[in-house]
Amino acid sequence: MTHDELWQNALTEIELNLTKANFITWFKHTAVANVENGVVTLSVPNGFAREWLQSKYHKFILRAVRNLNHEVKDVNYIIGQYKPVGDNKKRPGPHEKRRMFEAPIGNIPGAEEEFSLRDAAIDPATNLNPRYTFESFIVGSFNELAHAAAQSVIKNLGGAYNPLFIYGGVGLGKTHLIQAVGNEVLKQDRLRRVLYVPTERFMGEVVEALSGQSMGRLKDKYRSVDLLIIDDVQFIGRTEKMQEEFFHIFNNLYQHNKQILVSSDRPPKSIPTLEERLRSRFEGGMIADIGLPDRETRMMILKNKVGAKGVIVPDDALWHIADSIKTNIRELEGALNRVVISSKLSNNPISLEETKKILSHAAQEPRRFTSLKKIMKAVSEFYDVSEKELIDHSRRKEVVRPRQITMYLLREDLKSSFPFIGEKLGKKDHTTVIHACKKITKELKDNPSLDDELHIIRENMYS
Ligand code: ADP
Ligand code: MG
Repeated sequence: MTHDELWQNALTEIELNLTKANFITWFKHTAVANVENGVVTLSVPNGFAREWLQSKYHKFILRAVRNLNHEVKDVNYIIGQYKPVGDNKKRPGPHEKRRMFEAPIGNIPGAEEEFSLRDAAIDPATNLNPRYTFESFIVGSFNELAHAAAQSVIKNLGGAYNPLFIYGGVGLGKTHLIQAVGNEVLKQDRLRRVLYVPTERFMGEVVEALSGQSMGRLKDKYRSVDLLIIDDVQFIGRTEKMQEEFFHIFNNLYQHNKQILVSSDRPPKSIPTLEERLRSRFEGGMIADIGLPDRETRMMILKNKVGAKGVIVPDDALWHIADSIKTNIRELEGALNRVVISSKLSNNPISLEETKKILSHAAQEPRRFTSLKKIMKAVSEFYDVSEKELIDHSRRKEVVRPRQITMYLLREDLKSSFPFIGEKLGKKDHTTVIHACKKITKELKDNPSLDDELHIIRENMYS
């Protein structure tokens, strides 16, 4: 395994355990600079990152690397500024080095983003990653609505469903699908102007344009596209200015029959930061959800990945993987990767036995822990209410429900007693807690979107 492969695989593992924002913030522009005498030296972009990685993530990084290479004893960090371009290539000279480090994606200064970690092949004009195509996208009943809507959009850009809003849980193929639309549109007509932008990056551009008085230029850029793809819109900032700029850009495109494609981890009505007028715009278009893949589909996805990797994995081993991971396609891929890499390292052919061993080893990892603090944090972030509001006595609807959900999660996931929960959430009576848990349990039966919400919250409270 080259240094690059080692680190890319470790990152896959690390990514599973962090929120996306943390992962991007702390792990972009990291690379393995050297491995010597069992010590891996990571190159990180600056002193701040070094300190943070060392104090917060060291154990975690070490574990991820050791899972891949048992001979590793320690990890240390140096400040370096080069990007991984493969180990065997010569280290870049000072001039080259500078250019690589500074090279922005697209013409937005400093707006490199997470994908630069994984793929150098991103088209700077569109921000699209060519890896996301329909050829590699498996369709099953869980995503066929979203897939069909996406196909209609391609056939009739700006005319069929506008905007098209796609939502679904973490790792279920939203980014893949919406980027595949962009790639397909370009394949059919290279002159189309397509622009993909993650919401966090869009916000960065707006902030920058506001401070540099270059809002006009930014608007022109967005105004000129035929297809605007906005990923993870649940991150949209609450500030009036942000929503206003977003609304203007949106409206302008919409009025000119330009296509807008949006993804989110939840439906528009559940995004607390989304202003009313934007919400009703989204609801005026087409909304399609992506659910959870069934067993057969998970198997198909695995088979497809195995085919693309050119490795041999027997069916019983694949079924075992498919049965082990049910709610996240990224994790499904991660498990497959782990199996493939471990067997490469140990030189054992992949078998059912070997696979079971590798995955059970991974399952024993102490990573699925949560706590009162984590639950409160995850709920408060998801519903955008403060943790203080969760424990006070306000009866506002926007607060009461998140509070009940906190109680429910404390009961279900931490097995806390009713009096304990009441006590912790602002000295409330245990009957209040019982009522809340009953209410949420009942609602879960009739309201599938609550199930989705809990799925997302749990992703965060276990990370
Ligand atoms: P999301 O944006 O919903 O979090 P992604 O689009 O990033 O999820 O998907 C996570 C991983 O799973 C990606 O590597 C993607 O290629 C893969 N994936 C997701 N859906 C499918 C699918 N239907 N068929 C094949 N691979 C998929
Ligand atoms: Mg995504």
